[in-house]
Amino acid sequence: SMDLGSWIARRAAIIPDHPALTFDGETLTFAEFQRRIDLLAERLVDGGVAHGDRVAYLGPNHSAFLVALFACARAGATFVPLNFRLTGPELAYILDDCGATTLIADASLTGVVDDVRADIDVQRFIAVGGADGWENFDDVLASGVPVADPVFADAEDVAVIMYTSGTTGRPKGAMLTHGNLFWNNINALLSFDTVSTDITYTAAPLFHIGGLNVTTLVTLQKGGHVILSGAFDPTQTLADIEKYRVTTMFGVPAMFLFMSQVPAFVTADLSSLRYLICGGAPVPEPLMRTYADRGVTFAQGYGLTETAPLALVMGIDESEKKIGAAGNRVLPLSNVRLVDATNAEVAPGQPGEICVRGPQVMVGYWDNPGATDAAIDDDGWFHTGDVGREDEDGYVYVIDRVKDMVISGGENVYPAEVESVLYSHPAVAEVAIVGLPDDKWGEAVTAVVATAPGETVTLEELREFAADRLARYKLPLRLEFIDALPRNPSGKVLKFALRDRFGAENT
Ligand code: AMP
Ligand code: MG
Repeated sequence: SMDLGSWIARRAAIIPDHPALTFDGETLTFAEFQRRIDLLAERLVDGGVAHGDRVAYLGPNHSAFLVALFACARAGATFVPLNFRLTGPELAYILDDCGATTLIADASLTGVVDDVRADIDVQRFIAVGGADGWENFDDVLASGVPVADPVFADAEDVAVIMYTSGTTGRPKGAMLTHGNLFWNNINALLSFDTVSTDITYTAAPLFHIGGLNVTTLVTLQKGGHVILSGAFDPTQTLADIEKYRVTTMFGVPAMFLFMSQVPAFVTADLSSLRYLICGGAPVPEPLMRTYADRGVTFAQGYGLTETAPLALVMGIDESEKKIGAAGNRVLPLSNVRLVDATNAEVAPGQPGEICVRGPQVMVGYWDNPGATDAAIDDDGWFHTGDVGREDEDGYVYVIDRVKDMVISGGENVYPAEVESVLYSHPAVAEVAIVGLPDDKWGEAVTAVVATAPGETVTLEELREFAADRLARYKLPLRLEFIDALPRNPSGKVLKFALRDRFGAENT
């Protein structure tokens, strides 16, 4: 069945003693994992969580995250993972937007929530690790019995709402159904040949679709073993690959770059790896060579939160053949086409906006029909906001973005959100945020500022000013000055002109 709540349960029935999940030195078999899921499911239902209610989770990677995800499915609830780098006000906005009734948070983050508790409507607070004024996650599990009558979800039921930033500056909740998650796994299986003997390493954050649904869920569904890391550390990752004989790992390019730069890279035993899967941006050629020298190949994927995520893939044998490509269009359950501004398909070789249609495409944005209509056209094509070009062999290259977005180290930054905060700084007359090429982060969030008469401002001052309201990864890494922002006749800032002007300089 497509019901997420049945995935672990089915494996627990067949291979109860097989290792499912290792976190922080503790390994749960499928039976033990399922028992925790069913204990939490019962406690959620007992606490009043009804079909369709939203349960939010805030925290770094932890076994409790996955227990909560599957428990929500068993309870018929919708799971809302939150980016733990967000500030209190940013979290309050999302909790309010989705109307979460229950929040499960890591003990390290309860303080951030307590700061905004008066502004949110959440009724139940559970802390993983325990905190004052919060129920303790372990006590909650220990106090109940496994759910007797789990909810059976339909393919169309919303399993997860994953927030992704919006061009207007406010995050939008992409509603992913049980069917969306299931069909993405079928796509992954057909492209990356996941097997039940796989041991996958998950250090990418689970609250992002890449960490959750490229290798993690599909490996579990297949009966394989997930090694979950609480935080990404390049040296630790290499040691864990050796220790657990890891066979696959998903990451963004910055993670694989950092791993290649630590001393352990040269000596680490990487012989267990079947392949690495890189997503979020293409693998730069030198990085591919570095890993090839160590006998490791890349598979690649292109996708978005809204497409759960796989839309284009590059199999293991293709990465070296088509360097820089995002993938080909053979993914069995994904239709991709490139269109012009009139929504007509472009001629082969011409640039066009990448559109995706298929059973993995989200049903829409939570409580936001306007944004949903803008993203999914009448024929069901989801417009990605990425510009691609297809070569003669059917490989698509991502060459630009129509949407105004910066991707820095795998995190999306929406300029409008950052600009609106920086505009309130007294020294700032005009500001535009652009992404400039950066060796380490892919793109560096750059503030181009025209100062008010007689005023000056430094990068540190701007970062400090915005730090209470914006997650750290959104704060500018670079500051450039300009007399006045270039604009078109209707007043829109010409960001490509700013990227052209400042992009080449390496400060
Ligand atoms: P997110 O919704 O956070 O997963 O971000 C999705 C965005 O990441 C896409 O719209 C692209 O702009 C970018 N992206 C993802 N995968 C790739 C890739 N393989 N190559 C280039 N850009 C990518
Ligand atoms: Mg995103």
